[in-house]
Amino acid sequence: MSHSDAVAAEERWRGSRGRTDVRRLPENQVRDRGALDRLLDDALVAHVAVTDDGQPYVVPLAFARDRDHLVVHGSTASRAFRSLAAGAPTCATVTVVDGLVVARSQFESSMRYRSAMVLGTFAALHGADKERALQVLAARLLPGLAGARPPSEKELRATTVLALPLDEWSLKVSAGPPVDDAGDLSRPVWAGVVPLQHTWGRPEPAPDLAPGIEVPPAVAAWPEGRA
Ligand SMILES: Cc1cc2nc3c(=O)[nH]c(=O)nc-3n(C[C@H](O)[C@H](O)[C@H](O)COP(=O)(O)OP(=O)(O)OC[C@H]3O[C@@H](n4cnc5c(N)ncnc54)[C@H](O)[C@@H]3O)c2cc1C
Repeated sequence: MSHSDAVAAEERWRGSRGRTDVRRLPENQVRDRGALDRLLDDALVAHVAVTDDGQPYVVPLAFARDRDHLVVHGSTASRAFRSLAAGAPTCATVTVVDGLVVARSQFESSMRYRSAMVLGTFAALHGADKERALQVLAARLLPGLAGARPPSEKELRATTVLALPLDEWSLKVSAGPPVDDAGDLSRPVWAGVVPLQHTWGRPEPAPDLAPGIEVPPAVAAWPEGRA
């Protein structure tokens, strides 16, 4: 087959696949929606793509999963939020690194990870939907802090809340040991996996905290309870 025939065949093959079909290491694609939900519920940050004047920007945003949507909130003055609220197509990527994979060659060394890409268009939420989504965000990002004041009317007006449906998504998971070339297996060097765990540290009281207010039990439990 000539080079141009091979390129044409590759293009036909690519065109015949969905845009969320993993092509590079397709065996690492996970199509289980439960696994997607577990990743989204483990992570705190989504990297959300916007394009402004032809320049792509990838904006890190706190997010929460609200059943079949990914919800974010931000300033009405934000370029990214204005663009997304106007219906710009986007890709939201969520990644958790679970470890370093140390192979016997630098080439084969890699990471254990779970990462999701969600393609689509955010919709701006209003009224009761907006307030509900803010409650979901607060419950996810401030669990156990029920005492925090809800947003005022003015704060609500200054906040855009967006929801991205979990309709078109991919999940790629790398979970195995190092896979070395046969020729490297006899090298007298260590190979294996160093797991990476995310834990919370000891809560630090605000410098202006009134005396006698203790860390809420739910927050004190974070170091053990949340990864
Ligand atoms: C923490 C981390 C570190 C990584 N480091 C490297 C690196 O150093 N070098 C490297 O080459 N690759 C790395 N990857 C893998 C990388 O994200 C891509 O999967 C890979 O480079 C193939 O890209 P592609 O555009 O050719 O994918 P393709 O397989 O052509 O992508 C097709 C479709 O598959 C899906 N997809 C692809 N990648 C991902 C993903 N990571 N998560 C969810 N869906 C996906 C998307 O829907 C995409 O549209 C890393 C991934 C993670 C999570």
